[in-house]
Amino acid sequence: MALIGRARSVPAAGLLPAALLVSAALAAAACGPASTAAPVAPGGSGGAASPPVAGAASAAGEGSAPAAASASAAPAPARPRERPVVVLDPGHGAEEVGAAAYGVVERDSNLDFALRAERLLLAHGVDVVVTRRSEGRAEGAQAAAPGFFATRADLLARVRTANAAEGDVFVSIHSNGSADPSLRGVEVYYDSHRPFGAENLALAQQLIASTHAALAEAGFWTPSRGVFDAACWRSRSGRCVGLYVLSPEGTTTSGQPDPRVAPAAGATPPPTTQVKEATMMPGALVELLFISNPEDAALLRSDAAREALARGLVAGILAFLGL
Ligand SMILES: [Zn+2]
Repeated sequence: MALIGRARSVPAAGLLPAALLVSAALAAAACGPASTAAPVAPGGSGGAASPPVAGAASAAGEGSAPAAASASAAPAPARPRERPVVVLDPGHGAEEVGAAAYGVVERDSNLDFALRAERLLLAHGVDVVVTRRSEGRAEGAQAAAPGFFATRADLLARVRTANAAEGDVFVSIHSNGSADPSLRGVEVYYDSHRPFGAENLALAQQLIASTHAALAEAGFWTPSRGVFDAACWRSRSGRCVGLYVLSPEGTTTSGQPDPRVAPAAGATPPPTTQVKEATMMPGALVELLFISNPEDAALLRSDAAREALARGLVAGILAFLGL
């Protein structure tokens, strides 16, 4: 996760879907993980990105410290089914917009990618569940709790949606942001500390390869920064903290409310610890380019590049499913 210094207007946005236009009211916004760990797989020109900015919690999911028994067996879905189910999770929502710069708002861009990928997956005979279909919070999220736990309730709703659907694979869709505008490219995160660790890695490797290839086939280029293990995305008091939607069951804690979300007047302060659940299927989180990089942002404003990235996501998912 990194902090965008300032949202900037874009002089020409002819190719930009209306949903991606930045409101002037959107200033600094945080997005998902800018990697701090070394890639675990080849495929990137990039090394470590800028360090996370303190206090900018992300809906990608700064996460949870795993419980002691968190690696317990995850039961395989036991239901006869002809069509696999893919869960697509467009990151962020509502006032938590993620990264925003150069005419791209991550919240809206993520949803657009999810809906593009859904269309392509349906055409391949795959069922799709999308965790949110509007600019608001994830479906099923309780909006009553403000601040830190509003974000956590939103993330928990995504996990529960995926599990209720008995998804075969879970892909959370984000784009990156960094205080360093030179950083660009695609990253994919997985969590080695949770069930399906090897499958999570395999999925991540499929996705990094397929998105890069799809961009190249369409005549676009950005670095492939590689695959990263998010199991210790952060360390807090000596405990590994992963990305929420990828990490094992456990607890999530916060000593401070999310500074970007104003608490309701007179509201009772929420507890500082919350039990979190885990998705019960292989999963990965993609960071499709850096919104904070002008060249990457231009790709994100390009309908052709966006469609290529969606094709890449779908190709990676289908390859992972053996389809
Ligand atoms: Zn994000």
